[in-house]
Amino acid sequence: MKSLRVAIFGAGPAGIYAGNILASSYENVSIDLFDSLPAPYGLIRYGVAPDHPRIKGIVNSLHEMLDSGKIRFFGNVEFGKDLKLEDVKRHYHAVIFATGAIKDAKLNIPGVELEGSYGAADFVSWYDGHPDVPRTWPLTAEKVAVLGNGNVALDVARVLAKQADDMLSTDIPENVYAGLKKSPVTDVHVFGRRGPADIKFTPIELRELGEVEDVDIVLYPEDFPEGWFNEEAEGVTNQHRVMARILNSWLEREPAAAKRRLHLHFWHQPQEILGENGQVTGMRFERKGEVREYPLQAIYRAIGYFGSELPEIPFDDTRGVIANEGGRVAPGIYATGWIKRGPVGLIGHTKSDAMETIENLVSDVSTFVDPAEPQLEQVLGLLKTRGVEFTDWSGWLKLNQHELKLGSAFAGPIERERVKVVDRAEQVRISNATDF
Ligand code: NAP
Repeated sequence: MKSLRVAIFGAGPAGIYAGNILASSYENVSIDLFDSLPAPYGLIRYGVAPDHPRIKGIVNSLHEMLDSGKIRFFGNVEFGKDLKLEDVKRHYHAVIFATGAIKDAKLNIPGVELEGSYGAADFVSWYDGHPDVPRTWPLTAEKVAVLGNGNVALDVARVLAKQADDMLSTDIPENVYAGLKKSPVTDVHVFGRRGPADIKFTPIELRELGEVEDVDIVLYPEDFPEGWFNEEAEGVTNQHRVMARILNSWLEREPAAAKRRLHLHFWHQPQEILGENGQVTGMRFERKGEVREYPLQAIYRAIGYFGSELPEIPFDDTRGVIANEGGRVAPGIYATGWIKRGPVGLIGHTKSDAMETIENLVSDVSTFVDPAEPQLEQVLGLLKTRGVEFTDWSGWLKLNQHELKLGSAFAGPIERERVKVVDRAEQVRISNATDF
């Protein structure tokens, strides 16, 4: 059996699952997993909402996969800058891109550039402590809109509406807690462009919204005429049935005069973000032929993510994915996860996606060109020559311990399991410290 060197870029669930599946489907393989960030876990660390510990818990199985030694992790290494395609070809038989999708899909309406109009992906990166976004976020609005009826819209709406103290037990960075604590928000309006039967939420996440402390859910009877949900309609699943029951139960609920309100509006097609002096003042929608305007001071666009192009790799810029067929991009080049199929589906779906890519990779092995410099020391030597301060698995174990210690040392009223280190240089310093 030919011995194989494979590089994976992107140490989120897609990259780790791909590495793990490859390690168990091809015996003689050595896998190096790179990430542009100093720490592993991608979307789990920087995309999943901090108050979703059940989903964050997936990290435990990813940890085991990396800790098994079958996949070597290297952080703070960017494809196209620290390692170019020609370097990858000189050191590996094949490369898999699992770089995900972190940008916001574009909303092409007037006013989208106004101050106070934000992409949800940027806000998520902020509250999850991503090192490459500004550390401050202007939470000064009282009335806020969230556009979109997917789970990201729910995350953003929930985090905006929740009392900051109810977030303190999570791993949110200090500055995020401080920002949320000062937020004067009273009303969060979530706008879907289609009806309540067409929501893309999932039941657990929707139900959770109704359980947020001191927040009233407000629904509008105009969106729920008699027979609004047809159990028998084509494509209706059990999930839709559960969600219809949840919405119906909220329609019957008496408001509890909570401090904050979370409104769900349907059939609202975005038309224009309104502003004065460069600042958002409201939003205009079309609802079933009628124009509706709402006074608002901030708008969060949660209408889907979009992948980023990688240098020298063919990109489909209408879908925001690497152009591929079943994960095959070009000889020796593969893609998996959201950068392969687009930003849809739950984390578990990434596994079957990785299986397809790995199956194709393994069946192509005989066509791979042997790399000129296949030793691990050779690629690490190149990174060192270029002055790249890369981190590794032992570095992550140190950073992990450090964050857990910050959590247990927290001198507040609430127990904190972890406090995230945000700054990139600080993460690298802790990971690479020799006196830890
Ligand atoms: P999504 O599920 O695709 O939802 C996007 C929403 O944006 C849809 O409601 C869509 O409406 C709407 N939209 C798109 N273009 C629009 C436009 N021009 N104007 C108004 N609305 C527009 O995407 P997502 O919320 O970003 O989530 C991505 C994936 O991650 C999903 O699979 C999601 O379930 C998953 N996720 C899961 C969790 C969790 O807690 N389990 C959390 C976050 C994300 P239409 O339906 O009409 O197209």
